[in-house]
Amino acid sequence: MYEGAIQDLIDELGRLPGVGPKSAQRIAFHVLSADPADVNRLASALRKVKDLVRFCTSCYNVAESDQCRICRDPRRTDEVICVVEEPKDVVAIERTGEFRGRYHVLGGAINPLEGIGPDNLRIRELMTRLGGGVIRELILATDPNTEGEATATYLALMVKPMGIAVTRLASGLPVGGDLEYADEITLGRAFEGRRAV
Ligand SMILES: [Zn+2]
Repeated sequence: MYEGAIQDLIDELGRLPGVGPKSAQRIAFHVLSADPADVNRLASALRKVKDLVRFCTSCYNVAESDQCRICRDPRRTDEVICVVEEPKDVVAIERTGEFRGRYHVLGGAINPLEGIGPDNLRIRELMTRLGGGVIRELILATDPNTEGEATATYLALMVKPMGIAVTRLASGLPVGGDLEYADEITLGRAFEGRRAV
């Protein structure tokens, strides 16, 4: 539609999740008319996220060093691990202020239709952590949808024979949804009211 650089930018923006062709065009023209200092800050933030951010070697949350901020915090307990699908779920649970343990980020959920099985998630890494003998409770905080439930069921079957308490967030979360869409109070209550599975 346009030529050269502006079309390249529209094409790249259009490949981002949740950005349709119209939004891509609007953002591209916004960038074109924006203050050069603002555009440089955006470009530098994009480069930095790729250069500096990596995954925590313990829990696979996003981190800027070997371990994330939560794994480095000595005031948190090592005895409880909360399993989530994505780093954004860690943020959602942290906002509730209800949890003082550690996390394990799976990197998704079991989804046979998309060819995602247990081996594609960080389940083996989770089993290694649980094998250490320190953990007494595993909280399954996968999303309240089909894939999240399937993942929770799979993990419960694997972990229960190890003698570790396995709990799932209480109902009341919007079914079929994503953990991150639950408000803090609902998520906090679901956390407090978690049940053994
Ligand atoms: Zn971590």
